[in-house]
Amino acid sequence: MQKVEHIGIAVGDLGVSVPLFERLLGSPCYKTEEVGTERVLTAFFRSGETKIELLQGLDADSVITKFVARRGEGMHHIAFAVDDIHAEMRRLAAEGFTLLNPEPKPGADNKLVCFLHPKDTNGVLIELCMDKG
Ligand code: ZN
Repeated sequence: MQKVEHIGIAVGDLGVSVPLFERLLGSPCYKTEEVGTERVLTAFFRSGETKIELLQGLDADSVITKFVARRGEGMHHIAFAVDDIHAEMRRLAAEGFTLLNPEPKPGADNKLVCFLHPKDTNGVLIELCMDKG
């Protein structure tokens, strides 16, 4: 695993949270993107080498909508950049971590992603992400 690529934060309304994080970070949101497969709308900010990804559910079926309903807004996941997502998924599965998707799937920001079950990682949802190139 390489650096922390981004931190994901679940929010109820990007219309409120985008201006809030622009004030907090002192820099503008540089991209919003809908991830149709996940039913989420994302908004990205830069903070040095790391990005902040705000996530809002698009409908009641979205995992983000369910997360916010159950636990409230807040920290959702930490994403690590990896060079070779297939190799890293094999390594982590062999180490006993539970992969939430057996194959890498398309994520926001031109990435292939895989999530690890938080039961194996002290309750923190971990995302692996690799540039599609
Ligand atoms: Zn993410």
